[in-house]
Amino acid sequence: MLEGGCRCGAVRYRVKADKLPNVYACHCLDCQTFSGSAFSLQFIVPEDALEVTGETCLYERVSEDGQRTSRQRGCPKCITRVYNTNTRRPGLAVVRAGTLDRSNELNIVAHIWTKRKLAGIDIPQGIPSWPENPPPAEIVAALSA
Ligand SMILES: [Zn+2]
Ligand SMILES: [Zn+2]
Repeated sequence: MLEGGCRCGAVRYRVKADKLPNVYACHCLDCQTFSGSAFSLQFIVPEDALEVTGETCLYERVSEDGQRTSRQRGCPKCITRVYNTNTRRPGLAVVRAGTLDRSNELNIVAHIWTKRKLAGIDIPQGIPSWPENPPPAEIVAALSA
């Protein structure tokens, strides 16, 4: 069982998993804005493997083409973004990996939206990367490798 939560502890979660998940970095503008950083770190789990306690706030965003809705959930007290779902990927939750208690042990196995990557960040050779959104099957393969 993995555990994590927001900065203040009002929102906590548990993930049914016996080892730390592989994570990917996203360098897109949304992730830079959301995180205030160079990229976001995330892992994907079935929504029903994620058990959240504490009240979360919701930010919903419909894509420009109206094809999908992203539902971002975070802590209303300390404003930490914790996870999101997306109608494009029903049944899956994308969790901000830095909210895991053991975030220092994580391994970044893929990078997406590298066309927006900052100059000071180098991706190690052999790590899968895509300039924009990868085909879903390819990122799934990279994360499960
Ligand atoms: Zn909090
Ligand atoms: Zn992103």
